[in-house]
Amino acid sequence: MNDIKVPFIDLRIRYQEEKTELLACVERVLEKGHLVLTPELRDFEARIAEYVGAKHCIGLNSGTDALMMGMMALGIGRGDEVITSPISFVASTGSIVHIGATPVYADVRDDQNIDPAEIEKRITPRTKAIMPVHWTSRIADMDAIIDVARRHDLLVIEDSAQAMGSYYKGKHGGSFGDVGCFSAHPLKNLNALGDGGFLVTDNDAIVEKIRLYRNHGLAERDTCVLFGVNSRLDILNAEVLLFRLGRLKGVIEKRRRNADLYREMITAAEVVIPAEKPHEVNSNIMLIIRAEDRDSLQA
Ligand SMILES: *Cc1c(COP(=O)(O)O)cnc(C)c1O
Repeated sequence: MNDIKVPFIDLRIRYQEEKTELLACVERVLEKGHLVLTPELRDFEARIAEYVGAKHCIGLNSGTDALMMGMMALGIGRGDEVITSPISFVASTGSIVHIGATPVYADVRDDQNIDPAEIEKRITPRTKAIMPVHWTSRIADMDAIIDVARRHDLLVIEDSAQAMGSYYKGKHGGSFGDVGCFSAHPLKNLNALGDGGFLVTDNDAIVEKIRLYRNHGLAERDTCVLFGVNSRLDILNAEVLLFRLGRLKGVIEKRRRNADLYREMITAAEVVIPAEKPHEVNSNIMLIIRAEDRDSLQA
């Protein structure tokens, strides 16, 4: 048999599929000369807020920035503990450490998402917040997590980097907590031409703080009200993300079909493929399965 090498990731194919529309995006943006913080960014933010079902969205440079700025705007910092999942990309824990807080792990359930009962066991007088991660696009058990948060007066930062297009009991991921933090990295379901991210929230004060913080703390050109950073989603990426938002449904349908194919075709008892629960719609950015002998399964 001939070996066929199928690259795990090949972004060149995406370009060939979208070439005409992407080049039109570049042309529109460059012809207008609108590159940074122009009305197109507001349009993008409004569309995302509507899609996710949140009051506000704010475009940023990355999902990691969204996590850090969300926590900073919520007043989390040195001396605070944030309970999060030990199964994630390193940026979840990294963002907590970077703002000076202490990450505390609560273990996951069989579905790879943080266990609300384990969260409760890890709460101390220093606990300030919970950061569930919607791992592989499966929304964590938000009803139970919000319940723990309410009873213990904790903030909730949703690491929704993988959750675009995923729902829990009919509600979009990222719309449950105080803030929802999304990534538009090329490997996410809704992706930019490079890095990008955004944060959603219903809280007016939080979004105002982050709006200042992402733009050097500038309320106006010559009025600096706090020391911020530069984390503004580029207009070119806002334009591309808007175009790709229109394609997202099709992208997700394809991923969901592929996940079902794996479920149909790999039926060995030694392999566990997490099923979708009735109250979930998973956009399947990944499908992580467990196998007794991974290497022979791969072969
Ligand atoms: C991708 C990802 C991030 C980081 O997002 P960036 O946009 O790459 O900064 C954070 N958390 C999780 C779970 C991710 O998958």
